Amino acid sequence: MTDDALRHIEAAERKAAEVEGIGPEVAPRPVGTVGVVGAGTMGGGIAMNFLNIGVPVTIVEREEGALDRGLKTIRSNYERSAARGKLTSADIEARMGLLTPTLALGELSGADLIIEAIFENMALKKELFARLDGLARPGAILATNTSYLDVNEIASATRRPEDVLGMHFFSPANVMRLLEIVRGARTAPEVLKTAIEVASRIGKVPVVAGVCPGFIGNRMLARRQQAANELILEGAMPWEIDRALTDFGFPMGPFQMSDLAGLDIGWSRETSRGETLRDRLCEMDRRGQKTGAGFYDYDAERRRTPSPVVEQLIRDFVREKGGTPRHHTPGEILDRLISPMVEEGRKILAEGIAQRASDIDVVWVNGYGWPRATGGIMYWAGVR
Ligand code: NAD
Repeated sequence: MTDDALRHIEAAERKAAEVEGIGPEVAPRPVGTVGVVGAGTMGGGIAMNFLNIGVPVTIVEREEGALDRGLKTIRSNYERSAARGKLTSADIEARMGLLTPTLALGELSGADLIIEAIFENMALKKELFARLDGLARPGAILATNTSYLDVNEIASATRRPEDVLGMHFFSPANVMRLLEIVRGARTAPEVLKTAIEVASRIGKVPVVAGVCPGFIGNRMLARRQQAANELILEGAMPWEIDRALTDFGFPMGPFQMSDLAGLDIGWSRETSRGETLRDRLCEMDRRGQKTGAGFYDYDAERRRTPSPVVEQLIRDFVREKGGTPRHHTPGEILDRLISPMVEEGRKILAEGIAQRASDIDVVWVNGYGWPRATGGIMYWAGVR
């Protein structure tokens, strides 16, 4: 089983770079220089991918402080690699030397490929793409790193929707192998081909997705998150849910992930009304690992333990919502989490958002930690 499954996922990764209807006659455009807009969590990591292979990158921010922080993060990532003996200090300087930081968007006028990684906000992204349309050279490829937004709508802010597509990296963008390439309704074949080729050059596994909220990966992830929240409302504990997934082979579960990322992403004390468990945890200043407590308790070494406070909070919360907390077996939890994802995967296939079931396997193994030894989610579920 495992040998077959591993052979399947390896073949799937090779196959994923093939796009129905786009043959060898379609020539990719040359990409020798890259622009990145936004030097936050994603922009910095995206830039590193290109610096690592010797491609010059111009990175644009809207304010000095964010630009400085972005550059510091890139440098300290390289310094960590150097400390592990993976880079020399000359390598670090060579890479940093290829990076041009700026606050002037106009400096992207010569870039062959521009990747946008600003806030996840449609109005802001459209405004930016309209400006990029006005300054990018003819034939430049304009990519968005959006996680959920409609790539066609972003493209409509330009007079060149054929040059626009999604290049959806995963965090940390300099490490995660998956690159979801989102094909807009009007994306030109050679633009798609170029993005696939670029992905391979920077060592990523490209998977092509159609336009829909969350594309392939996040659309399925949303179903798992919804199921996890429903389980909590029946009295299942975050550590029971995480454990079902880690026993299955995931590196971590959704609540460990939230604690790591911070529960307060998108939360503010001013607007919090204590309606969700997350609101209540944040109000108690349990905002994740960074505050020493979230869904779990953490010690000084960031070792986690189940929290009696959270356990009581959940029991009270469930009763308040009119439910009765009950026990769930690990098998039930796993099934409740995974079945909706498989169902969503079938819809994604039926709608043509993914070209083939094996592409969904590649997305989940390389972007979300689905255990590789099973061959991927759809293969495991018997959907070929
Ligand atoms: P972030 O908040 O860390 O960084 C965004 C940066 O963009 C900020 O530094 C901000 O100052 C800058 N910015 C905003 N408007 C700008 C403008 N007009 N010009 C130049 N810079 C501008 O956000 P992030 O987590 O890096 O996310 C960026 C994008 O990537 C979002 O669309 C997000 O959905 C997507 N994404 C995020 C993740 C993730 O795990 N964080 C994963 C995949 C995709």
